[in-house]
Amino acid sequence: MPSNEEFAIVCDRVVEGEAVLYCTRDEPAEDGDSGWQFLCGNDHSTGAEEAHLVRLSELVEARDELRDIAELAVGAVLERGSDIHAWQRVDLEESAEGSFSCAACGEEHGELPMDFGIDHPASYYDTEEFPTDRWKIDPDYATYGEGEHHFVRGVLEIPVLDGPGPFCYGIWVSASDKSFRAIRTTELPDEHTLGGPFFGWVQSELPFYPSVLGLKAHTWARGGNLRPLIQLEPTGHPLAVEHRCGITMARVHELVARMTGDEND
Ligand SMILES: [Zn+2]
Ligand SMILES: [Zn+2]
Repeated sequence: MPSNEEFAIVCDRVVEGEAVLYCTRDEPAEDGDSGWQFLCGNDHSTGAEEAHLVRLSELVEARDELRDIAELAVGAVLERGSDIHAWQRVDLEESAEGSFSCAACGEEHGELPMDFGIDHPASYYDTEEFPTDRWKIDPDYATYGEGEHHFVRGVLEIPVLDGPGPFCYGIWVSASDKSFRAIRTTELPDEHTLGGPFFGWVQSELPFYPSVLGLKAHTWARGGNLRPLIQLEPTGHPLAVEHRCGITMARVHELVARMTGDEND
């Protein structure tokens, strides 16, 4: 935990409660300086916003999505497009081949799988309740019966705080008739623009977590032919905590090893 005396710099908009979208940890300038700046993501070179000193411990108490980030070493720089997008490290060097030097094992690797997907909604596998011939299903959308239930496949991003990008779960969420239609037809200019949110419940189970079926979620349509982003309600569920606060490459290694059944990886 950060000590009580450590301070961080935040900008006006963050003081006012706006989301932190940019974090950088520089060499501390003096005693008590953590080196951290947590900023709103706007251009601060215009001088339109002022810098404020806040206690690091109070900041991470109020915004627990910064809790694990605050533990990163000097040199760390992270950003995200909005508080729905996952944090990305922008200081980590990626080689031309797309590999990077892994903080967990020290190896160069680009081959480590960074996603795990589930092909169908959970109820599809319950063939007694939901006979297979009553489904209309493709890789992105599913409807049961005459529209009794709709499901959308989306991406749940887990920020990797010492790695090159998020770890992604491809899972299903439920959608109302109206949301289902809107998610499928919303036209967005590019991959950075989001449409929504559309309320739903998680309709997949993930191994290695307590049951995630029925967790409340917001589905955000995305442009650029990308699957929607899934944002979990900010609860204490271990998956929701990882989604909000992030994980390390050590955890990615653990997840990948368990998914591939190779515990010695
Ligand atoms: Zn700002
Ligand atoms: Zn590694």
